Amino acid sequence: MREFIMRPEILDLEPYKPGLSIEQIKDKYGLDNIIKLGSNENPLGASPRVQKVIERHAAGVFRYPQNHSPRLTAAISKSIGVPEENIVVGNGSDEIIDMLIRMKCRPGLDNIICYSHSFSMYGLTAKLCGVEYREVERNDGYQLPLDRLAEAADENTALVFITSPDNPTGLAATVEDISVLAGVLPENCLLVVDEAYIDFVWPPESYTPVQAFDKFSNLVALRTFSKAYGLAGMRVGYGVMPASIAGYLKRARIPFTVNTLAEEAAIEALADEDFYHKTLEVVMRGREYLTAELEKLGCDVLPSQANFLMFQPPKPAQRLFKELLKRGVIVRPLASFGLGKHIRVNMGTDKENEQFIKILSEVLAGE
Ligand SMILES: *Cc1c(COP(=O)(O)O)cnc(C)c1O
Repeated sequence: MREFIMRPEILDLEPYKPGLSIEQIKDKYGLDNIIKLGSNENPLGASPRVQKVIERHAAGVFRYPQNHSPRLTAAISKSIGVPEENIVVGNGSDEIIDMLIRMKCRPGLDNIICYSHSFSMYGLTAKLCGVEYREVERNDGYQLPLDRLAEAADENTALVFITSPDNPTGLAATVEDISVLAGVLPENCLLVVDEAYIDFVWPPESYTPVQAFDKFSNLVALRTFSKAYGLAGMRVGYGVMPASIAGYLKRARIPFTVNTLAEEAAIEALADEDFYHKTLEVVMRGREYLTAELEKLGCDVLPSQANFLMFQPPKPAQRLFKELLKRGVIVRPLASFGLGKHIRVNMGTDKENEQFIKILSEVLAGE
């Protein structure tokens, strides 16, 4: 075989490992009924109204979409109360992360900073772009070390990333903490707050800086339709950012990355408030239930503001993960986040949550 010369940054990359799919588990263990609680997806599925809209627009897919999704941008602007010039829609918030790093960071010169045990996209994209990735250790109890992020920043720090609510811990930073951090970062540095799970916090005004977006000059907030809006497979998310940054991203981006059906689906998802509120209800009820039940089973559970919980089970996590899989329950072991003793489980429907607890208690008792 011929050896081609590749960029050195990518030679030792491991492929992104998502949670296992339902089909993979059915085939492997010969099961019919799978409970998938490993990827933080919406327990209620996709909104029926959104499904109808997708069908209705199927015939139009021979046309190119409008670049930058102007109708969705207008709908988001109305929904969150931020001007359209501050909003960039992307193919999942992953695309916004990618654009920010590619367009803001100078390879070989700039750095980005994040804390340990966080979402792999930030480090992966930095590496791909030849940008130094600095990781700051967390405080005890996995608290978000916002003070130490500021200390680690220097004049070549282009971006500081925090995830709030955090994946995988579920912990959230308050608006006050975020404001303090934004205020002490170096002149050239943007603070990126990944708000993939912001819908699930309570009360919202204590946690999202987007409600006071005009008070910030260096803030980027990332949001997605993949979680609370049930559109993970559609790939649509957005960033809220200073208008100048939004302008550069729009100029430099690959055109048409958000497809026609994704735009229509997201517009309808924003309009379907009933489905959204039902989702929040199920998730918040499930969060209380699962927290209490996991604690009864001897698990050490972190208090979560997201649609999932991180816990340390009383038995080795990797073995427990496999035992659950054999019984048709998919959770997320956190070794890939550097947390080999922990498991992440997202809230399912009430029935799924009960079945999960029943199967988990059997596995824990049986070993
Ligand atoms: C799920 C998730 C996202 C959303 O990614 P999409 O590309 O919008 O599906 C972003 N950040 C974090 C931390 C997540 O867990």
